[in-house]
Amino acid sequence: METLKLRGKLLFIFIIITVGLVVVGVMGTINLKSMKKNLDSLYFGSLVPVTELNKILQTYHRTLGSTLYKAKNAQISPDEVKSRIKSAIESIEKEWESYEKHFKRDYELGYIEYAAFEIKAANSYFSSAVESIENGSDMKNLSLSSVENRISHIHQVVNKLITYEVDVAKYERKNFLALYEALLMKVGSILVLVIFGVTVISFYVFKSIQSDQTSLEIFAKKLKIANKKLENASYTDSLTELHNRRYFNLVYDREIKRAKRNNSSITFMMLDIDYFKQYNDTYGHIEGDAALRSVAKVFKDLFKRPSDFVFRLGGEEFGVLFSEVDEENSAIIARNICDAVKGCGIKHEGSKINEFLTVSIGVACCVADEALDDEVLISKADEMLYRAKESGRDGYSITTNISVTTPHIAQRASA
Ligand code: GH3
Ligand code: MG
Ligand code: MG
Repeated sequence: METLKLRGKLLFIFIIITVGLVVVGVMGTINLKSMKKNLDSLYFGSLVPVTELNKILQTYHRTLGSTLYKAKNAQISPDEVKSRIKSAIESIEKEWESYEKHFKRDYELGYIEYAAFEIKAANSYFSSAVESIENGSDMKNLSLSSVENRISHIHQVVNKLITYEVDVAKYERKNFLALYEALLMKVGSILVLVIFGVTVISFYVFKSIQSDQTSLEIFAKKLKIANKKLENASYTDSLTELHNRRYFNLVYDREIKRAKRNNSSITFMMLDIDYFKQYNDTYGHIEGDAALRSVAKVFKDLFKRPSDFVFRLGGEEFGVLFSEVDEENSAIIARNICDAVKGCGIKHEGSKINEFLTVSIGVACCVADEALDDEVLISKADEMLYRAKESGRDGYSITTNISVTTPHIAQRASA
């Protein structure tokens, strides 16, 4: 679950970064495109210096040329001629001044100076026409061919400039477009690289998280198994591998409650090896331990149902707890235990009652109800064990009357 959350977060960050990069890329491209448009219009739009040069040419041809032609043919008054020529010269000077302000390379300056000189000369030629009018000269004597020559010469000079400016603009535009394409490629490549990088990093982060998670899960599983083993060990007697007293305390309460709930019969047996002190004295402690293990094995083999529980309560004392078995069958089971232990044939020369190792059993059996005291089954089984010992050992005593005094007692002692 936590991994999913972490993966989700990382995926979210990855998407945000990718979307951010794509937005930056798109915005960058849009800006570059608009920059290109602006610069393009700078070269080929109204700002191009060619416009001013064209205006100058037009003024020479249309205003000055046609004014002097009309003056020679007396189509306009001398005052009109004067004013038209003056304003045309002023307009030419203004346009030229504006043209000169544009960026110029050093090697261009020579020709520009020459063109300026020629324009100035042409303008003073036309100014002298104004002076002639003021001095009262007749415009009919004006030589139109001389005017045409002047205009044609200045046309050549200015036209050369126009051609040059157009060529420069074309060249600059070509350079600019190449630069723009290269820039676009660069931005695109950087974006692709960054997205690729982010993808690779994310992939490895994902993988490393996944492997961390897998090792964590394996570790958690091992820990769970180890905990289970530890728990089992804490409930197991190391010598006999039966359940220990600690587990008995847990199971006893639980089983009594269950029996009370179901109103079912429950049987508790307390078992004690007969003359075991003598056994140890005869064969030694190590042999004693082996005998305990053998007896435990007999119990394990006899009680295999999931609802049967066998405990080593301490020393050579054992407990057996089971349910759903009535008095008669509990007695049969007790007898079977005695026979099975004896049947093991564990030699016991120190025993006063048999040549083999034997056990005595105290059995308490009842149908559980709410009134049943939780501890009484144990004390009754203990009491019955005492009686079995008293009655000669290698046998059992059983009671079903779980009250303070025990009137109904069945006993069996082996021959
Ligand atoms: P009784 O028939 O009355 O039960 O006689 P008993 O000798 O069995 O009774 P008692 O309780 O006096 O002796 C129990 C002996 O069990 C004492 C001890 O030497 C032995 N014992 C207890 N625990 C162990 C154990 O873990 N290993 C071995 N080898 N002997 C044990
Ligand atoms: Mg004992
Ligand atoms: Mg004993």
